[in-house]
Amino acid sequence: MKALDELTFDNRFARLGDAFSTSVLPDPIDNPRLVVASDAAMALLDLEPTEAHSPVFAQLFGGHKLWAEAEPRAMVYSGHQFGGYSPRLGDGRGLLLGEVYNQAGEHWDLHLKGAGLTPYSRMGDGRAVLRSSIREFLASEALHALGIPSSRALCVIGSDTPVWRETQERAAMLLRLAPSHVRFGHFEYFYYTKQPEQAKVLGEHVLAMHFPECLEQPEPYLAMFRTVVERNAELIAKWQAYGFCHGVMNTDNMSILGITFDFGPYAFLDDFDAGFICNHSDHEGRYSYSNQVPIAHWNLSALAQALTPFISVEALRETLELFLPLYEAHYLDLMRRRLGFTRADDGDKAMVEALLRLMQNSGVDYHLFFRRLGDQPAAQAVAVLRDDFVDREGFDRWAAGYVARVEGEAANEQRTARMHAVNPLYVLRNYLAQNAIDAAQKGDYEEVRRLHTVLSRPFDEQAGMEAYAQRPPEWGKHLEISCSS
Ligand code: AMP
Ligand code: MG
Repeated sequence: MKALDELTFDNRFARLGDAFSTSVLPDPIDNPRLVVASDAAMALLDLEPTEAHSPVFAQLFGGHKLWAEAEPRAMVYSGHQFGGYSPRLGDGRGLLLGEVYNQAGEHWDLHLKGAGLTPYSRMGDGRAVLRSSIREFLASEALHALGIPSSRALCVIGSDTPVWRETQERAAMLLRLAPSHVRFGHFEYFYYTKQPEQAKVLGEHVLAMHFPECLEQPEPYLAMFRTVVERNAELIAKWQAYGFCHGVMNTDNMSILGITFDFGPYAFLDDFDAGFICNHSDHEGRYSYSNQVPIAHWNLSALAQALTPFISVEALRETLELFLPLYEAHYLDLMRRRLGFTRADDGDKAMVEALLRLMQNSGVDYHLFFRRLGDQPAAQAVAVLRDDFVDREGFDRWAAGYVARVEGEAANEQRTARMHAVNPLYVLRNYLAQNAIDAAQKGDYEEVRRLHTVLSRPFDEQAGMEAYAQRPPEWGKHLEISCSS
């Protein structure tokens, strides 16, 4: 374990030079204080959890202090936002402080979100508010605990610095960790600005750092693109299977690593609703829950376009076509597990679809359904769950098929353990995050910390935490989360 001043830096992205990022110093926030830290994320940097409570921690991640080896940079990128191309985006309020290696030889970018103005701030103020920083913190750590690849969050630092959104709020900073902060939009930027040399430098950097196995293939760029397609298929399958809505799947928010990245007005479903739109500003529902699948494919085709200097169009097309079948296979596999099946059966897809239709029609809670289905032997479980359905006959038909299917499975003694290991009891529902934010805005950080702790073991029943495993109150289902953050 290390102390804060013992981190080992090796800032490879900064060394790519000024065509890729601009040197900018963090602009400190007033009276920085620890809101919440993740012990698990601290461990990624070999940091003792107690280091988070040292005064220097809040100073470092509140922008007051820097390591001598840090080289804070704002990265340049572009991207397609809501389908339209924005030629210049970039880190408008976040800085890559540097790259750190841990004792296991893993590499982590330290990115400070809310660190002040940069050359890419456009009309923005370079700040992040406490509310959105807490939301990103909770989601990254909760997704990770669910087994869904995500950027990580080390901490949120609160402050007295005022910022204006719809009302006056307080600025905060979030320290994000990811092996890379390169987005689809990085490749788009060098493609659309016609800088083939720089595009190659970027591509070679990303290949060497993050896809070294692809360098051994006859066409490294094609192998990398294929890996990105595969990882996205798996990622989106997990989002869909666990009811996670990202909310702003613009290509500048898509990580080249295929991890969940750049959280905006995200939400987990409460009641199952295929058309659910979590982003209050997304009037057309471009990024609705069920659209996440075709949009991921669309985003990959935007990346493919930016890779045309390196890969033939036919090869790109062929590789893109892998996305949907891969997605479907992963999704079905996850849903089978959620239903407690250990093997595949031809009727599984129809069984999942029929269940989702029934849930949709009755507004059934997406998470508790699966958890309760595993609580008892199948026949008893469905007898209780049928009360949640308006169309009882329809549910009974489904349940009869389900019970028969379960009885044909071997190893049913372990069914509950198997199902509880994949069906979370605790989910980051919007209203739970909102309660924690309301308290934090009044200076009470206990609720954020408790919620984070509960969500870090979402599959394990935790004593005294029943309140976190309930259906949301009616007000909690209709929170409008805006894009302003
Ligand atoms: P986002 O919607 O957070 O993914 O941001 C899209 C773009 O707007 C990125 O280039 C951000 O850096 C920039 N941006 C978002 N909020 C701010 C802000 N408050 N100040 C400066 N730039 C911002
Ligand atoms: Mg973004």
